[in-house]
Amino acid sequence: MKFQIEDVTVYFPYDHIYPEQHSYMVELKRALDAKGHCLLEMPTGTGKTIALLSLITSYALSKPSNPIKLIYCTRTVHEMEKTLAELKLLHDYQVRHLGPSARLLAVGLSSRKNLCINPAVVSAENRDSVDAGCRKLTASWVRALAVENPNIPTCSFFDNYEKSGSEAILPPGVYTLQDLRAFGKQKGWCPYFLARHMVQFANVVVYSYQYLLDPKVAGIISKEMQRECVVVFDEAHNIDNVCIEALSVSVRRQTLEGATRNISRMSQEIERFKATDAGKLRAEYNRLVEGLAQRGNLPIGDTWLSNPALPEDILKEAVPGNIRRAEHFLSVLRRLVQYIKGRLLSENFEKESPVSFVASLNAQVGLDQKTLKFCYDRLHSLMMTLEITDTDEFLSIQTICDFATLVGTYARGFSIIIEPYDERMPHIPDPILQLSCHDASLAIRPVFERFQSVVITSGTLSPIDLYPRLLSFNPVVSRSFTMSLTRECICPMVLTRGSDQLPVSTKYDMRSDPGVARNYGRLLLEMAAVVPDGVVCFFVSYSYMDAIINTWNETGILKEIMQHKLVFIETQDVVETTLALDNYRKACDCGRGAVFFSVARCFLRTSLLCRGKVAEGIDFDRHYGRLVIMFGVPFQYTLSKILLARLEYLRDTFQIKEGDFLTFDALRQAAQCVGRVIRSKADYGMMIFADKRYNRHDKRSKLPGWILSHLRDAYLNLSTDMALHTAREFLRKMAQPYDKTGASGKRTLLSQEDVEKMSSAGADEAMF
Ligand code: SF4
Repeated sequence: MKFQIEDVTVYFPYDHIYPEQHSYMVELKRALDAKGHCLLEMPTGTGKTIALLSLITSYALSKPSNPIKLIYCTRTVHEMEKTLAELKLLHDYQVRHLGPSARLLAVGLSSRKNLCINPAVVSAENRDSVDAGCRKLTASWVRALAVENPNIPTCSFFDNYEKSGSEAILPPGVYTLQDLRAFGKQKGWCPYFLARHMVQFANVVVYSYQYLLDPKVAGIISKEMQRECVVVFDEAHNIDNVCIEALSVSVRRQTLEGATRNISRMSQEIERFKATDAGKLRAEYNRLVEGLAQRGNLPIGDTWLSNPALPEDILKEAVPGNIRRAEHFLSVLRRLVQYIKGRLLSENFEKESPVSFVASLNAQVGLDQKTLKFCYDRLHSLMMTLEITDTDEFLSIQTICDFATLVGTYARGFSIIIEPYDERMPHIPDPILQLSCHDASLAIRPVFERFQSVVITSGTLSPIDLYPRLLSFNPVVSRSFTMSLTRECICPMVLTRGSDQLPVSTKYDMRSDPGVARNYGRLLLEMAAVVPDGVVCFFVSYSYMDAIINTWNETGILKEIMQHKLVFIETQDVVETTLALDNYRKACDCGRGAVFFSVARCFLRTSLLCRGKVAEGIDFDRHYGRLVIMFGVPFQYTLSKILLARLEYLRDTFQIKEGDFLTFDALRQAAQCVGRVIRSKADYGMMIFADKRYNRHDKRSKLPGWILSHLRDAYLNLSTDMALHTAREFLRKMAQPYDKTGASGKRTLLSQEDVEKMSSAGADEAMF
């Protein structure tokens, strides 16, 4: 269908549109008109992606004199492929209606692991090995040697791509990663380098968050992008954590041992070069006197991931004299590694600011802030001069240099935290030094400053006023939409008590209460008996899940549950969990019914981002999830030193209280978990928040609007039998036939005519 939103003709590839999709587009257009940033919350299953793509591409088509480019960031490759598939559909529709003038170029960009077509390279087990495998075949010195010695292997796809020169381009169209690989095979060109090259010409680029947020990756890919770009961060509810993760580094003993080995190997290489080809080292020295900025002219196979943490003017400066010579630089690295080794011997927990860390580093081993700042780029320059291609062997020294550059660049927003052991296992020494970023705005600020409109969107952004503070930006539009439904197909409930009226909670002092474990068990048992097909349970952590399943096993509840449904469990092993999920689906498909136990969070010492695999990425739509039970409130591990330091920073800098942030973070995670159960409007499902704390207004109110709008008073403060009664009623109602178009009652699908009427009514209102 085709309709007007003010001066823009929107091409939408379906015959009907949801009212919230229309409103979403109206708000998005306002933000684009104002050339500002926006925050939009809309539940999953309401067609957010297609609304975004339709509006932005139609907006670009309506303003040919002022072309805008769309950069669409997704969290996973799967989401990237889904987005490109939707765009393909939309593009076909636009071309059918507008002819060739609507043609655009859209590419998905991912790492070599996902794009490489050289079978000898792509079979390597991880991303770093594929990158290194590619470098071994494409580095300029390797190819120069191969010219003289045909026995030295190179990559024919890269050679053909280079030979084709300016002819190596992608014709207009929408290319998923699979399409790129197929095109590359057909032409004999490397799809990875082709896609990287085409990014600057494409109208739409779909890639992962890291290409914009991680300074190590962002510089090489995104520096060509002009200001007239609309950047979309989809599923952005965790964007603050992604930002801080991108700028945080952890160093363990193993890292230091690896770094020492790397330094020795580089030292040997330097000696070898001195004996055979000292000119290369001299040339590097001369280049470094000129500054780092000239590295942009390197052959494409050699470019290293530049570090935009360093502003351009610094790049033009000469590299500090004490690290220009290769052997001097290695001596600096040796001293740095030695110093960190000494710090890791500490038997106490330590926390300090980057400024005091650099001061003591200077006093003890004579390394100043400017030297540290250049370490990242200096290392990569040296690795290139020494013609090192097995870069995956050098990850340890790269980590040390990442650390040095960050600590030398940022004076605020970071802490250095040294912990001799994991709080949860105090008897096992496992020292770690972490440079922990607390300020999400540092990584995302360049994006807000550089691009005209940044759209942050997800199904869970509540409370919506907190994100602008965490990311420190001013949105011109900030809206939350609810889902229009023809029937009440979502049934959230807050369960506070068991059948015996004893309160249930995972609060610290109640966690090991046998009454709580019993009541949780009875709740699941009774629900398993009445709810058909799939039931998903989320626990607050692995350790809590283990403990409670043990108790249920000992008391025989688990056996009783298994009489109604098969039981599957998420473990920390990805393969095992995937297998369990497959079997869970099979059990739901064949009518046996199943329960899936999974975790809302896993706790890593080095990360605040770690969520259960299932909680973040797996959908339990339709019969795969008729009920989801969230046992407890998934707070972060509040004794984590990184978390405590971040909370302190948030309080001092943004005036966000600890309690507010923790509750917000726990509730967004709970909403993400329960939201897995509804993925479209034709679906139906129940959500039980099983903890007395959800009944408190200050907690509950932080749930997204689309859940709150269905959380009636009658569904609050329930006991197990009341919840059971509500569940039976709900399932009975859902079993009745209903009018899917909503023609008889509420309009949840709008035709072109309806939209036109709405637009003209809006125009009339505006006129009078
Ligand atoms: S050049 Fe391309 S095809 Fe060849 S190894 Fe590298 S990524 Fe793979």
